[in-house]
Amino acid sequence: MTLAPSDHTTDVLVIGGGNAGISLAARLRRKGITDIAIVEPKSTHHYRPMLSYVGAGLKTTREMSRAQHRVMPRGVRWIQDRVDGLDPAARSATLSSGERIGYRDVVICPGSTPDWERVPGSAEAMAGPHASTNYTVELAPKTWQLIRGLRRGRALFTIPDGPAPTPQIGQKILYLACDYWQRQGVLEDIEVTLLTPTATVFGQPDVDRRLQPWIERYGITVLTNAHVQSIDADARRLRSTVNGAARDLPFDLLHHSPVHRAPAWIADAGLGIEGAAPGTVGSGPGGDWTGYADVDPETLRHRRVPTAWACGDAAALGTTPSGGGLRHQTKILATNLMATRDGREPTARYDGYTVTPVTVRRGQAIFPEYDRDNELAPSIPRVPLLAPSRALWFFDLEVLPRDYWNVILRGF
Ligand SMILES: Cc1cc2nc3c(=O)[nH]c(=O)nc-3n(C[C@H](O)[C@H](O)[C@H](O)COP(=O)(O)OP(=O)(O)OC[C@H]3O[C@@H](n4cnc5c(N)ncnc54)[C@H](O)[C@@H]3O)c2cc1C
Repeated sequence: MTLAPSDHTTDVLVIGGGNAGISLAARLRRKGITDIAIVEPKSTHHYRPMLSYVGAGLKTTREMSRAQHRVMPRGVRWIQDRVDGLDPAARSATLSSGERIGYRDVVICPGSTPDWERVPGSAEAMAGPHASTNYTVELAPKTWQLIRGLRRGRALFTIPDGPAPTPQIGQKILYLACDYWQRQGVLEDIEVTLLTPTATVFGQPDVDRRLQPWIERYGITVLTNAHVQSIDADARRLRSTVNGAARDLPFDLLHHSPVHRAPAWIADAGLGIEGAAPGTVGSGPGGDWTGYADVDPETLRHRRVPTAWACGDAAALGTTPSGGGLRHQTKILATNLMATRDGREPTARYDGYTVTPVTVRRGQAIFPEYDRDNELAPSIPRVPLLAPSRALWFFDLEVLPRDYWNVILRGF
């Protein structure tokens, strides 16, 4: 149901109807909160982990999309608008329409967006014929066109050196592209390079060991401690630093994974982090988290404003943002918010659990789960989650999407 614009107050205001907002609202509803509103401007909801498979030509954007009204939890009001500003002291949000919504608690989950300005030339490169990214719904199909069209030359894949949803997910498309080129018999004519800001290929020792044979199998050059500086789309050159030294790399195909930023109104409301977030673990959340919601990374309650909460890609939680991590975050946030309603302190704690599934070839994947300390945190006992298998491939490609629509978005 879409509300006609009018000033009003709601018990819990959820900003953003992505994975975080929908699953959190559904949980709160099940816990008995009856007056919840979600502000979400888009009419279409996306299962974003499928973007990697769209970029590999294995799924379509249609398969990862549903009408937003179909994922809205029953009994929750959908305000189809955008939050432009928050006033934590007045406990109100201002929408693009000019309407003001009052609230008792606000949950900030608007996600993050690519920061194209951070790497000069990256936006131009995305508009040109040789570069793409799986990080947007519009560009992921182009990734597949570029992979399919390359028969020889140089292919570059980058990993962001700052906050981004599952930053190492660029490795998924790396191996799937190499596997495709190998099957086509052209891999020998393609020089493949991965640029990663981590000190090792993935930044987690057990995962590194599992990926090394695939790096060798495909003949991938791995440049570690690599930071993208600028892209010259016309000259097809990427400027970077590798171990502190300038490195200029030509390309015929570039898959770029951009650093992301949180919406500016979070910082404008005084709710953003100032300076880098704590923790810089290997595969995870290094870089500058300025402007991301400054919540306690364990309780998910704002450090200075007790009526504000955040989870998902817009929150600085000292760990890699992921959909898998969100399932834990929404559970903890809902439990803690309910505790405060009973006058208790929030005691449920998020350990930073996160996951980055990596497909090493078509038909085989690994499922690395780890915590805030970069230690492995397997959630399925006795299943070898780091051994490439068809079962894990099927789980990631087919089972998780169904789980997302039917279970996770319903708040379980
Ligand atoms: C290419 C790619 C591959 C991924 N692969 C995996 C994977 O394999 N496994 C995994 O676990 N995770 C994966 N992820 C990460 C996962 O998709 C995200 O962590 C998750 O979607 C974050 O959910 P969110 O709700 O925080 O943000 P989003 O999904 O971005 O949703 C935010 C919502 O807020 C809305 N919004 C924005 N601004 C406003 C505003 N001002 N007012 C109101 N609403 C607003 C947006 O329209 C959007 O609908 C991947 C992500 C990408 C991009």
